[in-house]
Amino acid sequence: MADIIKLLPDHVANQIAAGEVVQRPASVVKELLENAIDAGSTVVKLIVKDAGKTLIQVVDNGVGMSETDARLSFERHATSKIVNAEDLFDLHTKGFRGEALASIAAIAHVDMQTKPENKELGTHIKIEGSRLMSQEVVASPKGTSISVKNLFFNIPARRNFLKSNQVEFRHITDEFHRVALAHPEIEFHFYNNGSEIFNLPKAKFRQRITHVFGSRMENRLVPVNEETEVVQISGFICKPEFAKKSRGEQFFFANHRFIRSPYLHHAVVSSFEGLIKPDQYPGYFLYLEVDPSSIDINIHPTKTEVKFDDENTLYAILRSTIKHSLGQFNVAPVLDFEHDPNLDTPYAYKEKAAILPNGTVDPSFNPFQEVSKGTNRGRSYQKLSSKGWEGLYEGLDKEIETDAFSSLAIESDGGGQETLALDNKESVHAATTFQLKRKYVVSTVKSGLLVINQNRAHERILFERFLTEITIKEGVSQQLLFPLELVFSKQDLDILKEIVENLTSIGFAFEDFKNETVKVTGVPLMVQESGIGTILDRLIADYKEGFDSGSNSQAEVLAKALSKNLAVRTGDLLDQESQWALVNDLFACKEPNLSPFQKLTYTILTEEDINKKFI
Ligand code: ADP
Ligand code: MG
Repeated sequence: MADIIKLLPDHVANQIAAGEVVQRPASVVKELLENAIDAGSTVVKLIVKDAGKTLIQVVDNGVGMSETDARLSFERHATSKIVNAEDLFDLHTKGFRGEALASIAAIAHVDMQTKPENKELGTHIKIEGSRLMSQEVVASPKGTSISVKNLFFNIPARRNFLKSNQVEFRHITDEFHRVALAHPEIEFHFYNNGSEIFNLPKAKFRQRITHVFGSRMENRLVPVNEETEVVQISGFICKPEFAKKSRGEQFFFANHRFIRSPYLHHAVVSSFEGLIKPDQYPGYFLYLEVDPSSIDINIHPTKTEVKFDDENTLYAILRSTIKHSLGQFNVAPVLDFEHDPNLDTPYAYKEKAAILPNGTVDPSFNPFQEVSKGTNRGRSYQKLSSKGWEGLYEGLDKEIETDAFSSLAIESDGGGQETLALDNKESVHAATTFQLKRKYVVSTVKSGLLVINQNRAHERILFERFLTEITIKEGVSQQLLFPLELVFSKQDLDILKEIVENLTSIGFAFEDFKNETVKVTGVPLMVQESGIGTILDRLIADYKEGFDSGSNSQAEVLAKALSKNLAVRTGDLLDQESQWALVNDLFACKEPNLSPFQKLTYTILTEEDINKKFI
C-alpha cells in the first residue's frame, strides 16, 4: 500500500488551530489585548465595529516589532515569550503559545503596523487568510496597531454561527473588563462604532472597579488583604447585601491573568454562608499572587482554567481571609434580611403571624357579571410585601376559567363530584386546599390528591400573563409618586434600553436615560416600590443569560425572567385565598402542566398510589 499520510500545509494547520483559539470576535479581542499588555504598553486602545464582525483593532504603545519579527509573528509557534520548556513553568506573560496571530491571520484580513522605539521607520503588513498580501516600510509611532477585519470570511459556517451583535458585543465587553481589571496600571480606551464607551485612566484597583462598573460600586466594596507564603491575596469583595443573582461580577486574577476556578469560587461563596441567599452570588474582585512555578496555565487553549499546586491550602486561606474581612468590616452584624426592602420574599414571618388575615373585598364584584378583558389583566397579585400576603390575590374570584379545570373535578366536602364552576364561588371553596411545607399547595380532586408546586405554578401563571401583556401592550402601570432614580452600570443600562419597549408594555415607565442612571416613573401593579431596583437588576441578569443561551424571542426571555423573579417562592406562606387563586389561575393557563422552565408544576397522587402505601 502506498504511503498516504501527508503533512498539512501551514494555512490549513493554522485554520484548524484557529478553530481552537478563535471562537468568536471576543477571542480576537482577548488575544490582541493580551499581546498589547505583554508588549509593556501603558496606553491601549480597543476599537470595535459591529460587535467585531466588521472590525477589531487594538492600538498600543508597547515595544513594537522589528521588520523580521513583524513577519515572523504570524507564523505558528512563533513567540518571543518562551524559549524552552522550562519557561513554561515560569510564565510572566499572558501569551506563550505563539498561536494567536497565526490563527487570526488564517481566518481574517489582518493589517498590522508596528515600530520599535529605536527605529526610524516601522513595518506595515497585510495578511489575508494566511497569505501575505503586502509588506512595506512606513512612518508610524512607537508601538503596534493591529486591525482584524472580515473575521471568518473563509469559514462561512463559523460566521453564520455568530450570535446577534448584542450578544457578541457583550462577550467582547466581558473580555475587555477582565483585561482592564487585571491591569489598572494601564490606561484603556474602548470605542464602539465610533463612540468612546470606556475611558479608563491609570488607577488603583478600587478606582478601576468603579470606572468599569459604575460609581454605585464605591460603597459596596470591602477590602481583602492577606499575605502568606503560598499566596498573596488582595482585592475586594462586595458587601453581602449587594449579592446578586447574576454571575457577572466575580473575578479571580492569578498573577494578573483572569482565571476561572469553580473550586476557589466555592471557597468565596462558602465564606458568605448565612449572609446571602442560596441563589445569590457575592461579587468579588480578587488578585491572587502565587509563585509562577506553582501554577499551570497550560491546560486549556483559551487559558482561563488553571491548576494550582496546592489548591486545598489556597481554598482554606481564601475562605478564612474573606471571613475575616467580612467580620473586620463589620459586615456580618448589620445584615438583616427582615429589614432589607430589596428582598421580595417575605422573610418577616414573625411579624406576619401577628397580623390577622384581612381579605380584601371588592364591593363592585358581581359574580354574575361578565368580566372584561381589562379587569383580568389588571388582576393584582399584590403580594410579596413584608406587610403580608393578605392582598395577594385580591380580586381573584372575578374570572376563573373552567375548561382546563373541569377535567380535574374538585371533590367537595360531601364527597360528591363537582366541577369548579366559576360563576359558583361556593363550589371552589367547597374543596379544601392547604399548604405543605410552604412549598406545595394541596387539594383533593376526583382521582386523588392534587399537589401543586407553588413556585413553578405561579411562574407559569405569570409567564403567560406577561407574555400576553407584552404582545398586546396593555399592562397596567402604577405611577410612582416620586420617580425613582436608579444607578446602573453602563452595560446594564444598555441592556435595559434594549428591553425598554417590552418593559413598558407590561407597565414599567422610564424617563431620562443618562450615562449611568435612569428614572423609573411607573411600575407594574405587582412590583413593590421598594423592590424595583432588585427586580430590575435580576431582570437584566436573567435576560442576559437567557438571551445568550437560546434563540428565544425577547418577549419570551423577558416574560420568563419576570415570572422567575416575581413568582411566589418556596418558603412563602400563602393564605387561603391565595391558594385558591393559585389553583384556579394555574388551570386557566394554556399549558398548566409545565413551568416556563419546563418543570412539572403539579402532580396527582392517585388513590392507587396511596393504596400502595398501605399494603
Ligand atoms: P504569543 O503571544 O503566544 O507569543 P502571538 O501569536 O499572540 O503569540 O504573538 C506572537 C508574537 O508576536 C509575540 O510573541 C510577540 O513577540 C509578537 N507580538 C504580538 N503582538 C504584539 C504587540 N502588540 N506588540 C509587540 N509584539 C507583539
Ligand atoms: Mg499572544
